[in-house]
Amino acid sequence: MAGGVVIIGAGHAGGAAAGFLRQYGFDGPIALIGAEAYPPYQRPPLSKAWLKGEAGLDDLYLRGDSFYADQGMVTRFSTQATAIDRANKIVTLSDGEALPYEHLIIATGSRARPYPGAERVPHHTLRTLDDAEALKNALRPGQHIGLIGAGYVGLEVAASARHLGCEVTIFEKEPRILARVASADLSGFFTDMHRARGAEIVTDCTITELSLGDGDKKRVHLSDGSRRDFDLLLVGIGGLANTELAEAAGLDVANGVVVDDEARASDPAIFAIGDVTSRTLPFYEGRFRLESVPNALEQAKQAAAAITGHKPPVVETPWFWSDQYDFKLQIAGLLQADTRAILRGDPASGAFSVYHLDTQGRLRTAECVNRPADFRAAKLLIARGPALDEAVIRDPDAPLKPFLTAPPVA
Ligand code: FAD
Repeated sequence: MAGGVVIIGAGHAGGAAAGFLRQYGFDGPIALIGAEAYPPYQRPPLSKAWLKGEAGLDDLYLRGDSFYADQGMVTRFSTQATAIDRANKIVTLSDGEALPYEHLIIATGSRARPYPGAERVPHHTLRTLDDAEALKNALRPGQHIGLIGAGYVGLEVAASARHLGCEVTIFEKEPRILARVASADLSGFFTDMHRARGAEIVTDCTITELSLGDGDKKRVHLSDGSRRDFDLLLVGIGGLANTELAEAAGLDVANGVVVDDEARASDPAIFAIGDVTSRTLPFYEGRFRLESVPNALEQAKQAAAAITGHKPPVVETPWFWSDQYDFKLQIAGLLQADTRAILRGDPASGAFSVYHLDTQGRLRTAECVNRPADFRAAKLLIARGPALDEAVIRDPDAPLKPFLTAPPVA
């Protein structure tokens, strides 16, 4: 692979990077190494259409069957990269093969955070297609599902499970659902919405133990002494970055592989992209480990552009989406302290946005439910930084277009 690119991790970011490299004119060797048995696929449908039986494999795959071979790429699926020798620029694989590289892209993603003590009790997590298939095969109408953790994946599974006729109870240790990732207004909306559709939501609770109940039941013990039995448990308490390879190779790692604006790691021949990275953003102070498809795609472009000598892509406002029942949530920007929330539209109508303004009136985050135009405007407004007029924001019918051409706050 002299002159070649080795990509470790054939997920959304790794698969996309392989495609962008060719798109940007790279005609050298590309090797794509993936621990899973499948070519790169999209994970978002796993908790949504896939669970409900509304998507097939062809809907998940990023590219058609023959794409990688047609593009002259070498693929190794069901294969782990086990070591990176930076001095000799060689990646070792679990089958003993050694692949030399000129540029290496680490795209190892993240894994489900394990729940302490849960290994004693059969339970599901949802990260991979195999996880989703196991969960889908286990879900039966009338079953009672216990969900531990009320993040986006947990709530999407709750919606899918209700759609399939299951009873659902969600346990969240924080005082509200989505506590780390959404505003109180948005949490309130999704709490009411899920309860109205039959899910039980238990917040502010401490699970002291998981054990086996009667028959095949799985038992959740709470600190108030109560016990709840379920047919099936799903633990969804966030992800952990797969940084072990990078750490062992001596790269800078701090809650993710530390990368610059070109997705370059602390070794100039090595890039890291997607969920596994710790990155900066021009709009916000600090470093972030983003777990989202837009981030995976953006960093895949950054790495491919840097390797092929193209200009880096313009940095996008970070964004994310989640689909639950008929509600499309789109979030632009990252939640910040010291902002004030302005409601645009009535949550009771099922279509509203929460705009978060800083002390200078600049938009820092927008949470939009079934308001795609608000979301599109928000991405641009966050990037451009004009001061917004609160009264206009509050009026759901007032156009936001005039702000798009206003000068940024100095
Ligand atoms: P991944 O897609 O996780 O790919 C990493 C790959 O690397 C994996 O296949 C892993 O097996 C492989 N790997 C790890 N270590 C090695 C090794 N040593 N050797 C070889 N291979 C290795 N994002 C959104 O924006 N919107 C959504 O609605 C949304 N929904 C989601 C729903 C679910 C159920 C899940 C799990 C995620 C969802 N996400 C969503 C997040 C999004 O899918 C991830 O941010 C995205 O997949 C990140 O891409 P990645 O390539 O960095 O990691």
